[in-house]
Amino acid sequence: MRLFEGTSLDIPPTCDLCKELESVCHCTAQQKARIAPEKQTATLHLEKRKKGKVVTVVRGLTAIANDLPGVLKLLKNACGAGGTVEGDTIEIQGDHGSRMKKQLEQIGYRVK
Ligand SMILES: [Zn+2]
Repeated sequence: MRLFEGTSLDIPPTCDLCKELESVCHCTAQQKARIAPEKQTATLHLEKRKKGKVVTVVRGLTAIANDLPGVLKLLKNACGAGGTVEGDTIEIQGDHGSRMKKQLEQIGYRVK
């Protein structure tokens, strides 16, 4: 029972994400846990892997607050390279720092 339930002061709760009434909102718990890209800072790291392979790693974005597989797809397309999501990090094969920075900034992330 809400404080003003049934009175004219009663404002039904709405979803922050889709702005629909909670009663009709279809957002999943995961979607609601998402954080706006503008509020997050990604960091790019060039790292060496076995056999002298180089990968560009994105850190600072968590899997719960972001659609990492979706971001991975955009990065792979932008770089024309393969890559994977490992927990809270995204790895793209090769040295693509500047392209990835551009792509991430386009989505709205702050990039260091
Ligand atoms: Zn919603």
